[in-house]
Amino acid sequence: MLSDLAISRAAVRRPLHEVAADMGIAPHLLEPYGTAAAKISLAAIDELKSRPRAKYVVVTAITPTPLGSGKTTTTVGLGQGFGQIGKLGIVAIRQPSMGPTFGIKGGAAGGGYSQVVPMEALNLHLTGDMHAVTAAHNLLSAMIGNHLHKGNRLGLDPHEITWRRVLDVNDRELRNIVTGLGGADDGTPRQTGFDISAASEVMALLSLCTSLRDLRERMGRIVVGSTRDGEPVTAEMLKVAGAMTAMLTDAIKPNLMQTVEQTPVLVHCGPFGNIATGNSSVVADLIGIHAGDYLVTEAGFGADIGAEKFFNIKCRASGLTPDAAVLVATVRDLKTHSGKYRVVAGRPLPPEMLAENPDDVLAGAANLRRQIANVRRHGVTPVIAVNAFPTDHPSEHRAILDVAAEEGVRATISHHFTDGGKGAAELAEAVAEACAEPSDYHRLYPDDLPLVDKIKVIAREMYGADGLDVSPLAARQLEKYERAGYGSLPVCIAKTHLSLSADPSIKGAPTGWRLPVREVRASVGAGFIYPICGDMRTMPGLSSAPAAEIIDIDDDGQIVGLS
Ligand code: ADP
Ligand code: MG
Repeated sequence: MLSDLAISRAAVRRPLHEVAADMGIAPHLLEPYGTAAAKISLAAIDELKSRPRAKYVVVTAITPTPLGSGKTTTTVGLGQGFGQIGKLGIVAIRQPSMGPTFGIKGGAAGGGYSQVVPMEALNLHLTGDMHAVTAAHNLLSAMIGNHLHKGNRLGLDPHEITWRRVLDVNDRELRNIVTGLGGADDGTPRQTGFDISAASEVMALLSLCTSLRDLRERMGRIVVGSTRDGEPVTAEMLKVAGAMTAMLTDAIKPNLMQTVEQTPVLVHCGPFGNIATGNSSVVADLIGIHAGDYLVTEAGFGADIGAEKFFNIKCRASGLTPDAAVLVATVRDLKTHSGKYRVVAGRPLPPEMLAENPDDVLAGAANLRRQIANVRRHGVTPVIAVNAFPTDHPSEHRAILDVAAEEGVRATISHHFTDGGKGAAELAEAVAEACAEPSDYHRLYPDDLPLVDKIKVIAREMYGADGLDVSPLAARQLEKYERAGYGSLPVCIAKTHLSLSADPSIKGAPTGWRLPVREVRASVGAGFIYPICGDMRTMPGLSSAPAAEIIDIDDDGQIVGLS
């Protein structure tokens, strides 16, 4: 089989105005950025409203290995699969961060014959949204420093400033820095640091806003720290929320691209999956929901995290209700949940994992069962997509189908990686059937449940924990947020995606454990409270063999080495 890059380069693309026309998007709503992508005006939300509503499908997964389960690939494949059964599928995904593109994971355009093209454009700068988010975030950082320097009228306590800087590069040396060194005119020395742009609250609130006005209001609500009396200081008080919004008037518009089979793709926003929602934007979905027969969107990480945040944070913000959820499962993921193998990022799979062994697959089934329950707990029908790898054995696929049958869940083996949309036609049929059933979608907890109880519900019902171990610091912070009036916000739990527990080494579906809540932070602008459960890195580092070492240009000026 050809490499991802070769497949991407061989793809025949349609002019984007034709792709848009199929979606009911008229030329005046389209802003071309070269031939790879076009921005869609937010006026499309209102202009498309009278068109029929698409069925809304979220793609999630069982707890993955560090290599990923193929959710993006399956999302793209399913969109193409709908084309094979005579329906228009719209794909909605996040924009990849360049940190992982040059780090271990590589790009995030899907893979094989289920890819968004051109993958170089998607994985690199695209239309500059990441840079706009980075610049808006750092403008606020600069305005904070300037405020301190120019007399600190608001009485901001320099030790209580939580707003850092961001950059879309994996650079561990920037995690902790001192700014303001030099002389009297060079600012106030202060310890701070950088996070990756995907971890910016600006990215999170851009992904959750429903309009430019809503973006402006959320921007104003960003809390950057507090006064010496403990009163919150916001971006509004620093008079910078307007300028930050002005910097994002293009970035708020979703990017239209297409797949190798010319299926429409909305690419928009890339919030982190742990300290933020890990879901693409609400505005893209508000457009996509009236632009085709099925809107297929990916939620990052496993169903305990990405889908939970999709159901309880993203859908709460958008008002949209999902009709079905695709649960991606792979033989390698299930084998890992047997506890017998250790998969390490950046290294090939242990060779003994590739031997035919349906018993290992069954031994890891507890995780699949739990994630099925997690989807059903929200009243949504799951459909299992077994994302087939060339190294799988038919007996191992059958083992997954057997578990699905025991749980009463539709399941298909999907060959979209090797066969494109044709390989996902059966999956598309199964999803269409699930969507035809009435959805009983509901959120996991009411808004007025106290924050600590919201965390408890998620820990118990999604992760299978017995309860919480809340540190004294976290308890004080929770109390402070309740007093400040943030108690009605949803919680966005920052936890490892490699385990249902807070310990990435524990596989399967562990019981008899408690979720540690170390610290709790607030993203008031984005509109959620995020408890930190376990170690969380907001600025990744590079590995000993980063992808950056193999990416280059060839003699024709073409990019090579991207995967
Ligand atoms: P996720 O979205 O779950 O992180 P991706 O769709 O990005 O996963 O896939 C992770 C990696 O695995 C990508 O490099 C992709 O090309 C590869 N991959 C996914 N599905 C398959 C498959 N069926 N066969 C071979 N490689 C695959
Ligand atoms: Mg993905």
